[in-house]
Amino acid sequence: MLEFGTAQAAPGEISTGMLNAGETRHGAAFGLPVAVVNGIDEGPTLYIQAGSDGDELNGLAVVRSVMQQINPGEMAGQVLVVGILNYHGFQRAEHRNPLDDTKLNRAFPGDPAGSSSERLAHLVYTQGVQHADLAIDLHQGGTKRMINEVRVRCGPAHPLHDKCLELARVFGTAYILDEKGPDGQLARAAPDDGIPLIDPELGGTVGWDDASIEVGVQGVLNVLAHYGFTHGEPTYPTKQVRATGFEEVYASRGGLIDLAVDLGDRVETGDRLFAVTDVFGTVKEVVEAPTRGIVWRMRRLPMVATGEQVMKIGTGVEFL
Ligand SMILES: [Zn+2]
Repeated sequence: MLEFGTAQAAPGEISTGMLNAGETRHGAAFGLPVAVVNGIDEGPTLYIQAGSDGDELNGLAVVRSVMQQINPGEMAGQVLVVGILNYHGFQRAEHRNPLDDTKLNRAFPGDPAGSSSERLAHLVYTQGVQHADLAIDLHQGGTKRMINEVRVRCGPAHPLHDKCLELARVFGTAYILDEKGPDGQLARAAPDDGIPLIDPELGGTVGWDDASIEVGVQGVLNVLAHYGFTHGEPTYPTKQVRATGFEEVYASRGGLIDLAVDLGDRVETGDRLFAVTDVFGTVKEVVEAPTRGIVWRMRRLPMVATGEQVMKIGTGVEFL
């Protein structure tokens, strides 16, 4: 019997339940929604989580769709799923955990005697992640616009780097950011424990974005097929783009933005990126690319003040 919280599944079964996470302010018990898929045949274990950032909802839609498509009677191995990690942020559609104003993805591997975020991180880390052979932490670029990409965060010198990179390629969004992440990221903690993990960033939107969700669903199905959980063939691009860093581009003048590029565009140093106009359309500033790269992420709102970021260019670009 495979157990995760109150979810229990015998071989060939799927089950959903709750993982006890303590109590809310009025003293009621609360839990994280969890699911287990127990394949009919022996195999590896995959951990998937969504909702680490409470306003990043595409991953939740991916989990919801994948769980309706998966058939444990025709599957090997096991899948452990946390549908919503940042319980308190999700209730308010906020990025951070409002109880301690912390980003969950800076709290791993967590602390059982620590803050709300540290305890939630510790809970899923010890109950889920550490039982897995590989893991997926579903994110998106917050509510800003972003391409669909996958992040490898352990850094190129890490012994698990190549395994994480393979997982990223198989997930197959065609764009990979391969740059060591900050301390406390699950994508740092899990590889340190010998577990390859990727952080897919499924676009960036308010609410749900169907196109990015579709990319995420296909990504999870690719991973299940490639690593022998299912019998299907993964369908990921053979040629993918890897970036190893970002160059942030700011406005110096305040006003309204006229974009000259779109997400995913390749730019050379000196290419026009955007203009800033006054309220009536007179151009105040033209901003050019400070480096060659790929337009990776963009501001959503059209108005900008001096010193506000307008876009990020992915740099160190090469084809894998
Ligand atoms: Zn995120």
